[in-house]
Amino acid sequence: MAEEIDYVTIAKGTPGMTGADLENLVNEAAILASRENAPTVTMTHLELAKDKLLMGGERKMVISDNEKRITAYHEAGHTLIARLLPGTDPIHKVTIIPHGMALGITQQLPEDDRYHYPRSYLEKRICVALGGRAAEKLVFGEVSTGAQSDLKMVTDLAEKMVCQWGMSEKVGPVTFTRGEEHPFLGRKLAEEKGFSEEMAWRIDQEITAIICHEEEAADELLRDNRDRLDALATALQEEETLDSNRVEEILQLAAAVRP
Ligand code: ZN
Repeated sequence: MAEEIDYVTIAKGTPGMTGADLENLVNEAAILASRENAPTVTMTHLELAKDKLLMGGERKMVISDNEKRITAYHEAGHTLIARLLPGTDPIHKVTIIPHGMALGITQQLPEDDRYHYPRSYLEKRICVALGGRAAEKLVFGEVSTGAQSDLKMVTDLAEKMVCQWGMSEKVGPVTFTRGEEHPFLGRKLAEEKGFSEEMAWRIDQEITAIICHEEEAADELLRDNRDRLDALATALQEEETLDSNRVEEILQLAAAVRP
């Protein structure tokens, strides 16, 4: 290990990881270091290893400038909303380099291990997740297929809020098997619903209401901060990856030129 290694920074960037996960991370970093015949494992190796574990390895793809621009605005939308809403997890990194199945990634990391998630936190998470799509809508006038995994995450989360965590006043403090994770597909198919058609309708209404409310919030935030969104998207197209310090810098510059 190089002397410069800052263990506190690594700990902050790996919340929720077990000892075995950390061992895997260090191992991955050592492989990267030995591949380039480096004398020691550095912070760069550890950071690359973490990206690989958390986001999947970088994927070499030919991407047109237009595609790049759409991805840049999409990720800038996530990033800007996460920065504007208080109480969200801090931005760690945003990139338009494809990793695994994703064309771009906005990585947020919680400050510490959390076990309780208040309703307001979950709502903001939905808002951040809808930010990519909202940015595409605002800038290009239409949405693309790029938001599919965001929408799945948003729908799952809103369903859990209503059906598992009693966070809807209209549905009340009850739980339903809907929104539960079923380890075996067969069980879900065979299960009885256990609630009325009327309740099923109300649940659907509430899930949609939560998501639409956050979508409106995302649209409004991006509309009101279009200059910052443009600044972030431009920087992403030029630099491809921005760390948290660079995001701050860009947002401050954009704020400084505001009339
Ligand atoms: Zn997205």
